Amino acid sequence: MTDNHIHIGQFDEQYYSAQEVFDTVLNANVKHIVYSSTSSCIDNVRYSQIEKEIDGALKLCDSHIATPLFWFIPDYINQGVTIESVMKNNPYGGFKLHPYSHTWTFAKDKKQNKALHEIFSYAEQHALPILIHTGPSGVDSPDRFEKFFEEYPAARVILAHGRPIDKTIKMMHRFDNVECDTAFMPEESVHTLVSTGLASRVLPGSDFPITQFMANKFKKDNARDITLAGQYEKDIVVLRKYETLLA
Ligand SMILES: [Zn+2]
Repeated sequence: MTDNHIHIGQFDEQYYSAQEVFDTVLNANVKHIVYSSTSSCIDNVRYSQIEKEIDGALKLCDSHIATPLFWFIPDYINQGVTIESVMKNNPYGGFKLHPYSHTWTFAKDKKQNKALHEIFSYAEQHALPILIHTGPSGVDSPDRFEKFFEEYPAARVILAHGRPIDKTIKMMHRFDNVECDTAFMPEESVHTLVSTGLASRVLPGSDFPITQFMANKFKKDNARDITLAGQYEKDIVVLRKYETLLA
C-alpha cells in the first residue's frame, strides 16, 4: 500500500530524519511513501535549506519509492524561488500547501495569487497532486482555495485530514478533481465518506511521525515514550482498517 501523508524534518523541538522515517515505514511493508518536510514551518526558513534536506532524502530512497512534495510557502516569492525551476530541477511528485502554518493572503496579494496559479497550472499540466492541509480554524477551511479547484479542473487536489468533514464532502461533490486523505481522520468521518459514495476518492495517509510526536506529547503522566516503530505499528493498523472500509 501507499502511505500518502508522511513527514520528515523539524517538527517543534523534534527532528525526524529521512533515514529513520523511511526505515520505519518501509519496514512495515508499505511499498510507496509520499512525504514532505515539516522543516518548511521553521521561522524564516530558506528554500535552499529544504532543498538540501530533500536532496539528502532522495539519496536514501529513490523518488519512485519515496516521493517528495514541494511544500510551497509564501515567503519563497520574496526569496525568488520559482515554481517552474524548482520542479524542473527536483523529482517532486506534487505540491503541499499549509494555510494554517503559513499566511496565505492571495485575495489581496497579487504575487501570492500568481504563485498559486503557477502551482495549480503546473499540477494540471503534469498530472501532479496538490496536498492541502485543512482544519476547523477558518484559514484552513477545505474551500479556502476553491476558486483554483474550479479554474483548474484537471489539477488533482487532496484535502489533507478532511476537516471539517461536511465542508470536505461539499468540495468533493462540487469538484470531481478534489479528493481527501485519512491523516488523523476519525473513523466516523471515513464512514460518512463511504456512505456518501466518495470512498474511491479517499487516500490512505497517516501523518507519521507527527502521530508519534502527538502521542508522546499527550501521553499519561507515568507512561513511557512510544518509539517510532511502535507508533507506526499502530498507524498501519488504522490505515489497513480504513483501506478495508474504503474498498
Ligand atoms: Zn501532515
